[in-house]
Amino acid sequence: MNTQQKIESLREELHRHNYDYYILDDPTISDFEFDAKLKELQELEISYPEFADPNSPTLRVGGGITKNFPTVPHQFRMYSLDNSYDFNDLEDWEKRIVKTIDEPVEFVAELKYDGASISIFYENGKLSRAITRGDGFQGDEITNNVRTISDVPLALRGDFPKSFFIRGEIYLTRKNFDKINKIREEEGLDPFMNPRNTASGSLKMQDSGEVRKRGLSAVLYQYISDEYPAETHWELLAKAKSWGFKVSEDQAKCCKTLDEVKNFIVFWDSERHKLPFEIDGIVIKVNSLKQQQQLGYTAKSPRWAMAYKFKAEKAETELLSVSYQVGRTGAITPVANLKPVLLAGTVVKRASLHNEDIIKKLDLHENDFVYVEKGGEIIPKIVGVNLEKRNLYQPEIQYIKNCPECGTELIKLEDQAIHFCPNEMHCPPQVVGKMIHYVSRKAMNIENLGSETIEQLFREKLVENAADFYTLTKEQLLPLERMAEKSAQNILDGIQKSKEIPFEKVLFGIGIKHVGETVAKKLVKNFPTIEILKNTTAEELCQVEDIGEKIAESIVDFFKNPENLLMIERLKSYGVRLKKSENSDEILSDVLDGKTFLFTGKLSLFTREQAEEMVEKHGGKNISAVSKNLNYLVVGEKAGSKLKKAQDLGNIEILDEQGFLDLIDRESDD
Ligand code: AMP
Ligand code: ZN
Repeated sequence: MNTQQKIESLREELHRHNYDYYILDDPTISDFEFDAKLKELQELEISYPEFADPNSPTLRVGGGITKNFPTVPHQFRMYSLDNSYDFNDLEDWEKRIVKTIDEPVEFVAELKYDGASISIFYENGKLSRAITRGDGFQGDEITNNVRTISDVPLALRGDFPKSFFIRGEIYLTRKNFDKINKIREEEGLDPFMNPRNTASGSLKMQDSGEVRKRGLSAVLYQYISDEYPAETHWELLAKAKSWGFKVSEDQAKCCKTLDEVKNFIVFWDSERHKLPFEIDGIVIKVNSLKQQQQLGYTAKSPRWAMAYKFKAEKAETELLSVSYQVGRTGAITPVANLKPVLLAGTVVKRASLHNEDIIKKLDLHENDFVYVEKGGEIIPKIVGVNLEKRNLYQPEIQYIKNCPECGTELIKLEDQAIHFCPNEMHCPPQVVGKMIHYVSRKAMNIENLGSETIEQLFREKLVENAADFYTLTKEQLLPLERMAEKSAQNILDGIQKSKEIPFEKVLFGIGIKHVGETVAKKLVKNFPTIEILKNTTAEELCQVEDIGEKIAESIVDFFKNPENLLMIERLKSYGVRLKKSENSDEILSDVLDGKTFLFTGKLSLFTREQAEEMVEKHGGKNISAVSKNLNYLVVGEKAGSKLKKAQDLGNIEILDEQGFLDLIDRESDD
C-alpha cells in the first residue's frame, strides 16, 4: 500500500466507525483505538499535505473561521409546507389530491422536526456544500459549520448517485439545550429561549469549533436531484439510510390510508413529550414520486405534502400571585405563581411573565383564571385570561417599584422593556452574580467553586467580593453543606492557581460593565497595568479601536468607586495578576525560533493575518516569497504556483493548516 492508499483507507475506516457510532449507535472499536487511528491519519496528513481532503474525519473537530457566509442560490427551490390544524383540513387535502390522481395514493407520515432546515450537496460521495433555507430561493453557505455535526456524513458508503442534494433539519436535543444554558448561566449570560432558535443561531457562528461544542443533531428527510434512483419517497429514505445518512425513516410510517395517517398523528401527539428533541407536528407526503410530480407546486408549497401542526397544549388555572426575581445583572423578571395544573405531561406551577408590558397587555388582575400554553419554549407562558371568571373586586396587578431583594427603587431604561435594580454593589443576587462571573471558565476558571457554593459562602458572610476568596480557609469551608475535606482542598487549590491567570482575564473577571473578553484584551494591550488603566480618561480610552463612549464611561465609573478600588488593592496584595506579564502577549513561545513561513491558497482554519500573528508569537518570521530562505510553506485550498515552486526547490517543508497548528502544539508541549 502506498501512502496515498494508506491515508484513504484510514479515512474510510474512520468514516465507517463514525457511522457505527453516531448513526447506528453501535461502535465496534473503543474510543482509544479510534483516537489512535485518528492520530495516525493526522500525522500522515501533515506529512503529505498533497493528499489533503476537506472531508477528512480529522477536520470534524472544527476550527475553521467564516467571517461572512456567502449567499448562494438554491438549484432547487426550498418550498415551505402548507399547514393543517385538524383532521378536516387533512380530509380536504386528500380530496384535492384524489381529483388529480385517479389511482390509489399512499402517504408517508414523518415527524416535523423543530429546527433549522438545510440543503446539503454531495458530489462523488463527499459532502460538498451546505446551504441554509434562507428565503427558499437563496440561502447562506455554512459548509464549515455543518461539517462539525456528527450526524452528517462527510463521506458516503454503498451505492450512491454521483451528485445530489439532500435536505433535512438541524436541531438541538433538549439535553444539549439545557447543557448550553447551564454553561451560559455559570458565565452570567442570559439563557437561550428555545432549542429551535439556538440551533439556527448556532449554525451562523463564525467559529466552527464553537459550533461543534453546541452538540447539534441532524436528520435528513428529502432527496432531490434531476434523477431519482427509486420510485417512492419511502424507498429514497431507505436508500439514503444505506448511504450513511440519519433519516426520518426510523420514526416515520408508510401509510396506505388517511386513517393510518390519523392514527400516527394521534400517537405522536401524546408521545412527543417523550422524544429527546422537540417536534411541532407531523409532515405527510405523497409517497409515489410520479404522483408528486403530477400534483406539482403552488406558488409557495408542494401540493403533495402537508404539515399537521400540533395544538400547543393549553390549560386553565388560577393565578395565585406574581413574584419578582432579580437576576445577576439586576434585571427583574416577573413570575406568575399558579395553582398547579397538568400540561403536556408535566405539572406546571409557574410561568414567566417577562416584563411589565406583557402584564399590561394581558391586562392581568389578581386571582384571574389564566390560560397557560406550552409551545416551543421550555417555560410555559400565559396566553390569555378567562374574563368570564373575573369579578369586579379583583384589582389589576401592580408592577413593583422597589427591588424585592434590597429595596432600592427600580429603574427602566428608555429603550428597554425590562426593569433593573441599580444597586449593583449591594443587591445580594448581583453581588453573588459578580463573584460567579469572576470564577467562571472564561475569567479566572476556578474549578470546583460553583454557584451554589458561592451562594452559601455569601449567606455565611464569608465572601462579598472577589478579593474575599483569597482569604478563605479550610476551617471556614468545611462546615458548609455537602463539603468534604477533598472538595474544600480543591477549592483552595483552585483559588491559589488563579493567581497565575493573565491580567486580561482578571480584567474581564472583575466585571466592569460592558468589558467583555475582547475589550479586556484590547485594554491590556494598550494599558499594560491596572494603575495606568485606572488613571486613563474617557477621552483617552476612546482612542482605542473598538472602545466607544459607553464602554469608556463604564470603565471610568468603575475606577471612581472606592469599593472597587479597595477590592483591586486587595487582589494585588494577594498576588493576583494586575499587569501584563512581560512576554505574555507578544511572545507565547520560541518554538518557531529562526524559522521562516509563508502561507498560500485559501485558508479555512484561520485567516492569513491570524496565521502570521501566530508565527510571530511563537518566534518565527513571515516572508513574502518562495525562496531557498523559506523553511515552511503552509498550503490552504487551491494552492497554485507557490506550492509548485516550493516542491521544485525541494528542502522546503510543506504543511497544511492543521499541520501548522500541530507544529506549534507539538513543539510547545515538550
Ligand atoms: P414551516 O416552517 O412551518 O413552513 O414548515 C416547513 C418546514 O418544516 C420545512 O422547511 C422544514 O424545515 C421543516 N420540517 C421538519 N420536519 C420535516 C419533515 N419530516 N419533512 C419536511 N419538512 C420538515
Ligand atoms: Zn436590588
